[in-house]
Amino acid sequence: MRPMRRLLLSALALFCLGVLVLGIILTEGHLQIRGISPALPSEAALRTAVASGEGPRHLYSINTASQAVTPSQSMTFPAFVLEWPGGRRFIIDAGMEPEAAVEFGKPIEWLTGADPVRPHGSVGEQMGAESQTVAGAGFTHLHSDHTGGLRSLCPLRDGQLAIFQVPLQADEQNHTTDPGLTLLLDADCVRFERLAGGPIYPIPGFPGLVAVAAGGHTPGSTVFVAQVGDRLWIFSGDITNSRSELELDRAKSFFYSLLIVPEDPERLKILRAWLRELDRAPDATVVVSHDLEALNLQGEDPAIPGWR
Ligand SMILES: [Zn+2]
Repeated sequence: MRPMRRLLLSALALFCLGVLVLGIILTEGHLQIRGISPALPSEAALRTAVASGEGPRHLYSINTASQAVTPSQSMTFPAFVLEWPGGRRFIIDAGMEPEAAVEFGKPIEWLTGADPVRPHGSVGEQMGAESQTVAGAGFTHLHSDHTGGLRSLCPLRDGQLAIFQVPLQADEQNHTTDPGLTLLLDADCVRFERLAGGPIYPIPGFPGLVAVAAGGHTPGSTVFVAQVGDRLWIFSGDITNSRSELELDRAKSFFYSLLIVPEDPERLKILRAWLRELDRAPDATVVVSHDLEALNLQGEDPAIPGWR
């Protein structure tokens, strides 16, 4: 056989092997996510669970990075901060550190023609001395664009930071959540706390805040619900990537759900309907992680107290 021909055949064999391995990993991911459909609580049960009278008084978001996808639409990579009287804080997601954010944005640039990511500083950099007041954290899911920023809180605090997880998030990983989990395991100031309950998981030590196991996007996808003053806030993570996908009941792209992140489209449809129903109440707001324009509107609306 001529050397050139041998080289081509080897390359083809390697390519086929790569496709096969990828196919096996994706198939595993799809079988796993389709087996996850925990019960969803009613609105009444959620309202009872968060009505402590001792809940958080303030809510704000820290934007760790943003990326303009179209001239009028940007993705944001936020941490949400809940603040109890006395200054004790809990963060939902942690965004990314600056260098990781720039890298994370590159495939999105190449695939969609989006602008490069603009990093705005890690959650630790932006909180500074306030990092010490963060007593707990939870993640809507374990993708690295949500977990990567957590370790930036470590140098600025003593004492451990508890990461609260529903059992599905603690137990069920896939190839898309492994890197994000590794970033948490590498942070030297954290410990993991497994939540008990279901379908509503109260978060011990943080009255007015609960978690709900959701699935759909990742096996451990979790929705957090908090009563802040008179308002109910529902943090839906990446169940949808924008408010409009939620409002108009739009699925994500077929190829994204098939190849990029193995999702369960049927479960996501159920979750969108559940979230839309919760969002319908005049005193409730669903917060979608990556929708910068919606977050800015929610943050500026004088009719929405608590957000600062
Ligand atoms: Zn995300």
